[in-house]
Amino acid sequence: QATATVDISMDDNTFPSPDVQRQDRPSLTCILPAYNEAENLGRLIPELTAYLQRFSDQIELLVIDDGSRDATVAVAAALVDEYPVTVLQLSRNFGKEAALSAGIDHAEGEVVLLMDADGQHPLEAIDQFFHHWRQGYDMVFGVRDNRADESAAKRHLTNLFYKVLSRSAEIDIHPDAGDFRLLDRRVVLALRQLPERSRMMKGLYAWVGFPSKAVTFTVAPRMGGTSNFRLRHLSSLALTGFTSFSSAPLRVWMLIGAGISVLSLLYAFLIVMRTLLFGSDVPGWPTIAAGIAFLGGIQLFSVGILGEYIARIFSEVKARPLYLVSRRHSFRDRTTATDT
Ligand code: UDP
Ligand code: MG
Repeated sequence: QATATVDISMDDNTFPSPDVQRQDRPSLTCILPAYNEAENLGRLIPELTAYLQRFSDQIELLVIDDGSRDATVAVAAALVDEYPVTVLQLSRNFGKEAALSAGIDHAEGEVVLLMDADGQHPLEAIDQFFHHWRQGYDMVFGVRDNRADESAAKRHLTNLFYKVLSRSAEIDIHPDAGDFRLLDRRVVLALRQLPERSRMMKGLYAWVGFPSKAVTFTVAPRMGGTSNFRLRHLSSLALTGFTSFSSAPLRVWMLIGAGISVLSLLYAFLIVMRTLLFGSDVPGWPTIAAGIAFLGGIQLFSVGILGEYIARIFSEVKARPLYLVSRRHSFRDRTTATDT
C-alpha cells in the first residue's frame, strides 16, 4: 500500500472500508421536510422523481409536512396518485430538525437522501453523492461553495459560531455543510439510536461518524416562497449546538473564577502593604463598587449558562416525542386500494 501523504482535512478525514458491497440499484428514500412549500412541491416532485430514476427502481419521496399554513399537504397529497410520494403530516410546526428526524425514523430505503423542498439543492449533485456511495462512503454531504445569497450578518455569525464550536466541542462540524446529504442505511440506523430531544442534526451526523465524503455544490435560489429561518431560530439552534456537543461553557467559569481570585489576592496584598506603609485613608469605594458590579455580572452570566444546561436536562427528562404524526397519505396505500 502506498504511504502517500494524505490530505486529512476536516471534510473527509475518513476512508471507505475496503470490503463494502454496494447494490447496483438500491432502494431509495428521499426525505423532503416542507414548511409552506406548496408553490415548490408541484414542480420539484416531478423533476426529482424523473431524476432519481437514474439511480433506483424503488423510490419513495417522503414529504414531511411540518405544520404548514398553506396548501402544502393538499398539493403533496394530490401528487400521491402519480408519483411515489408519501406525505407525513406532523400535528404542528416542530421545526426542520424534528421534521428530518421524522423522515429518518420512517425511511425504509437502502439509501436515504435528505433534501430541502424549496429547490435550492441542485439535483446534479446527487450524481456525485451516488458516485461516492458506490465507492464505499456511508455518508456523502453537500458543502456549499459560497454563501453569497445570505446576509453579511448571518455569514459572520455562522462563521464565528463554527469557529468557537470546533474549538470547544469534541466533534468537528464542517461550517458549510448542511442537511443536503446521502446516508447509507447503516447511518440511518445509527441516527435512530440517538434519543436526545434538543437536536442539531449537523452535530449528530458528525457524532455518528462513518466514512464520509464532502461534495461541493452551488445553492440555487428558492423556486418560490420565502426562507423560514429567522435569526431567532438560528440563534436557538446555535445554542442547542453548543449545549449538546460541548461542556466548555460550563467549564470556562472555573478558569475565569480562578483568574479573578488570583488577581484579587494580589490586589489585597497591595492594599495591605499600602496601609502598612502609608496609613489608611477612607476613599476607595469606587474600586469596591466596580469590583462588586463586575463579579455580580459574571455570576449572573454563569448562572444563566447553568440554567441553559438545566433547561435541556429538563426537556430530556420529560422525554416527550420529537414530533407527532397526525396523518399519512401514501402511494403505497393507493396501490393496495386499487388492487382490491
Ligand atoms: N422547514 C421545515 N420546518 C421549518 C422550517 C423549514 O421543515 O420550521 C423546511 C423548509 O420547508 C425547507 C427546508 O426546511 O424545505 C429549508 O428551509 P428554508 O429554505 O426556509 O431555509 P434556508 O434554505 O433559508 O436555510
Ligand atoms: Mg431554502
